[in-house]
This record gives sequence, C-alpha cells and structure tokens, in this order.
Amino acid sequence: MLAELLQLPVQDQIFYAVLVFSWTVYLWEAYLAYRQRRIYRSTMHVPTELGKIMDSETFEKSRLYQLDKSNFGFWSGLYSETEGTLILLLGGIPFLWKISGNLTARFGLGPEYEISQSLVFLMLATLFSAFTGLPWSLYNTFVIEEKHGFNQQVLVTIYADYIAPLFDKFTPLPDGELKTDIESMSKSISFPLTKIYVVEGSKRSSHSNAYFYGFFKNKRIVLFDTLLEDYSPLNQSGEGEAATEQKEESEVSGDESKPKPKNKKQGCSNPEVLAVLGHELGHWKLGHTIKNIIISQMNSFLCFFLFAALIGRKELFLAFGFNDSQPTLIGLMIIFQFIFSPYNELLSFCLTVLSRRFEFQADRFARGLGRSAELYSALIKLNKDNLGFPVADWLFSMWHYSHPPLLERLRALTGPKQD
Ligand SMILES: [Zn+2]
Repeated sequence: MLAELLQLPVQDQIFYAVLVFSWTVYLWEAYLAYRQRRIYRSTMHVPTELGKIMDSETFEKSRLYQLDKSNFGFWSGLYSETEGTLILLLGGIPFLWKISGNLTARFGLGPEYEISQSLVFLMLATLFSAFTGLPWSLYNTFVIEEKHGFNQQVLVTIYADYIAPLFDKFTPLPDGELKTDIESMSKSISFPLTKIYVVEGSKRSSHSNAYFYGFFKNKRIVLFDTLLEDYSPLNQSGEGEAATEQKEESEVSGDESKPKPKNKKQGCSNPEVLAVLGHELGHWKLGHTIKNIIISQMNSFLCFFLFAALIGRKELFLAFGFNDSQPTLIGLMIIFQFIFSPYNELLSFCLTVLSRRFEFQADRFARGLGRSAELYSALIKLNKDNLGFPVADWLFSMWHYSHPPLLERLRALTGPKQD
C-alpha cells in the first residue's frame, strides 16, 4: 500500500498526505473529546476543594450543559471534517476559483486581475461557509444555549470583551496600605515599578485580573477593580451603572429599583491581591514575557521564510487541482492551512504545555514569596464566577488548556515544594 503510494506523482502524494493528516488530527481530537465526555457522565460530585464555593445544583447544571455541548461538538466536528474532505476530493477550491474568474470576467476584468478575482473568491468562500454553518450555529444558540439558559449572554460577552475595554478608566491607586505593600514587594524582587493604576468600572467577566506593561526600567502595574475588594463594583451599594460613579455618590443616590447585592462579596483582600500580583510578577522575574515574545517572533520569521521557499513550487498547486495557474491567495491558503498543518499542531501543543508550565512556575514563585495560602484563597474567589465544569480528563486538559485547571493549581499549591 505504502509502496504504491510512493509510486504516485509527488502532487498526489502531497494531496493524500494532507487528507490523511487532517483525519488523524480529527480522530485524535474526537478521542480526547470522548474522554472528556466520559468525565462529564461519571463525575457526580463537587470536588472537596470546591465544596465551599460550588453547590451541587450549579455543578449539575454545568455538567449537563457541557455534556450537551460536547455531544453537539461531536456531530458538528464530524460534519465539518466530512465537508472539508469532500471539498478537497471534488475539487471545490479550483471550481470556486473558476467561478470567481467567470464573475470578474463579466465586468471586463481578465485573468490578469488576480487581486479582484481573489477578493471575489474570498467573498464566495465566506458566503459558502456562512451558509453551511448557519444550521449549526442556529441549533447551538437556539436549542443548546436556550435550553441551558445562556442564550442572552451572547451579546453581553462581545460587549464586555471588546467594546467596554475601549472606555476603561484608569486612575492611580491612592496612597495607603495596599500601595506601600505593592511597592515593597516590587522592591524586594527588583521590579522597576513606577506607577500603579486601577481600571475603574470594568464590567468584564474578569478573564484578567492584573497585568503590567512598560519597557525596561519603567513598569506600570494595572489592577482591575473587580480584583479589589475595596473597589469592586458589586460590593458597592448601587450595583450596575452606579458602580462606575464615585463611591460616595452612589451611596447617596443609591438606585432603589436595582437589586442590592446579597452579601455577594467580590474581589480579594489586600494580602490576596498581593499574592495574585506575586504570581504576575513571577512571570516577569522568570522571563516568561520575554520568552513568549522571542518564540512568536521566531515563529513568524520561520513561517514567512518557508512560505517564500514554497510559494514557487508548482507541485503544491497541482496537488490541489491548479494545473495552469498559481494564484498567490491560493498559495497562501495551501501553504498556511494544509502544508503547515502538522507544524501548527505541534507548535500549538508545545505552546500549551509551555504556557501551563509558566503558570505553575509563577504560582511557585508566589509561594516562594510566602504567599501560597493567600494565592489559594484568591484563586478560588477569582474563579468562582466562571468556574464552568471544574473536572477535566488529564489528556484532554493537557492538549487543550493553556492554563492549568483550578483544581490542579490548588493541588500544586498545597503539594510538596519542588524546585
Ligand atoms: Zn499567570
């Protein structure tokens, strides 16, 4: 079988290798998803570490939601893999390219207008995938999300993630205990801190809690108000809009129509904030930021180098049914999507593993600063609202999670010290 394959012209070998690799990745991912589904089916109790923050009702709701999502993912994944294979086998890409050429020709633009033809091609390809993807996304939104009561969140997430940050208000952290503590911690690890800011009125779902920026000897720390007990909008009397106003004002005008937060304290105490910052500064001290920048630069360099070397190869175009032309856009697609696919899979796996290592190292760094107990409770508090389903299959999590699951972090924090 293999000997016969090697007898084939090189373009056919490329084509079959692409197909076989694509199905290998698909089957691997399907296997991992199956392992994770087994966890959803069999884990019936909240892990002991999380007993205080997650009740069994929330746990069960989240379990059923994830199970439905995963089953849906199985069918939609199978469909899109089959669709992709049929497109390749039936010559869908050269066919669409030809149609685009015919369309541009109608406007008097011959084959020498490659950019116009490429634009039409992209438009038609987008329309096609929107059309075939529509039933799936409708089912996802109106059946699965609706059934589990998540439907209304769609828009809110887009707002919180992309639009709201544009209006973020930065104010310097006022003098006080927290400020002096942060300054002395920075000093103890020679972090060149110049200013500390608080982002006010951030309504985000708190993906991020604190970060630092700035070059060389001029670093600033930014804390999200949702991280700080004293600033957190939910802890102030008028929840919602009023929270973005001054604290005193909202207390005076306190909007009565809005439900008051029922003892639902958000944010961390000062020692916990310092522990979280200890983790973030660990990323800096251990050179994680620089390492990530170097890796991504090297990767782009390598990709463009390989692209330049490959774009002139006729076999690549022949493999995908382009017998008499080599359009640049098609070359980009073939090289980045199909030829680089093994490299991309490997790279993303390595980056995932590396990123998780960095997280554990940063946690250990905070622990080295003597802040493990505070980090433990801070992690629990910060993950309370977006815990999702807290149990993961080890292989699934190793392949997919760039951040270690909460439980693994908590266990590492209390586990034996290792360096
Ligand atoms: Zn981190």
